[in-house]
Amino acid sequence: MDHFDKYKFKSDNPNEFGIDLKKFKKNEILDESHLSNLLSHSIRISEDILPSVSQSIDAVIEKLEIKNEFDFFVTSDNYQANASCSLMSPFSKPFIILTSKLIELLSEKELEFVIGHEVAHYIYQHSLYPNHQNEENRNLRLNILNLSRAAEISADRIGILACGDLEAALRANIKLTSGLSDKYLNFKFSAYLDQLREIETIGKSNNQLWSTHPSFLIRMQALIWFSMTNEFNEFFKTKKKGTYNIAEIDEKIENSKQKMIGNEIETSNQEIINRAFMWGSLNLYLSDKKFTKYEQEEFKKAFGDDAKKAISLIKITDKNMLQKKVDSSFLEASKMLKTNKNKLIDKLKRVAEEISGDVRKKKNVLNDLIKLLK
Ligand SMILES: [Zn+2]
Repeated sequence: MDHFDKYKFKSDNPNEFGIDLKKFKKNEILDESHLSNLLSHSIRISEDILPSVSQSIDAVIEKLEIKNEFDFFVTSDNYQANASCSLMSPFSKPFIILTSKLIELLSEKELEFVIGHEVAHYIYQHSLYPNHQNEENRNLRLNILNLSRAAEISADRIGILACGDLEAALRANIKLTSGLSDKYLNFKFSAYLDQLREIETIGKSNNQLWSTHPSFLIRMQALIWFSMTNEFNEFFKTKKKGTYNIAEIDEKIENSKQKMIGNEIETSNQEIINRAFMWGSLNLYLSDKKFTKYEQEEFKKAFGDDAKKAISLIKITDKNMLQKKVDSSFLEASKMLKTNKNKLIDKLKRVAEEISGDVRKKKNVLNDLIKLLK
């Protein structure tokens, strides 16, 4: 299934959270307890009972060239038009539950988009991602939510590959957002994208910051760009070249997201790096138990007012104080994304090289700091 990796949205990267998906092997014996629940309360989709839906499923499986390991069910939920794939861990049989409203609302092609999207959550093993609700650290929660939104963008890409129809994919998004059918909606996509531009000019939506799903406007924009890539054209063997490659549109999507959300996540990440960097540097300076006038000046130059406060705190209190500050700031930093941890480690290494003092002692302090991050 690795051939889907190239379509993955760049920010959909669980490695940043220390998750190695390759470590999770599919279990031989699958947990079937949920299956019996579903069988007693929902209708299993089959050729005999729901021929048209069943055909859409087959079309998706064929288009994506995957094995049909899934059990599809339909359940009555007339209020919410959604699909779910909540039990898609490698330890349970993959179920995809479609609501009746979803089936009523969508055309065959639109349904193929949604089915492809749900199948993608299983292919990419998104269910193994951390749950933001279990996390108390604010920064980590923000990063997890960002990952969860990125996962939706990846799943949408497989959705559009599954249905092969940009308009159908966009229409599905609009229908699912509004809950309305063709009877009312006029699909003038530029009008919806004007709504996106409007949000971007107003700027910063806190609601988006704390949301598990990206705004439907971002998703539509991301789909339009994806349909313009070389990779998309290659998948459909159009023999045409795209306007972009995926790496380029990943950048564009990040920019759009940032316009909507603001710099909150980056700022929060940066503050944690800065705090740990300052206490870590001070620890390195003091590795030889000396803190010369020159070193103090250098330290102040690098960290400004915070450095002055740190120096006065160290002077008037016991030396355990420094260790406490190091411990708490590094505990916080240990919950950062891998990239940010590596950034911090590189910065500390540079400080260790630049400052004077016993090489072995500096190295010991540096290693202790790195250990705190793991
Ligand atoms: Zn989804």
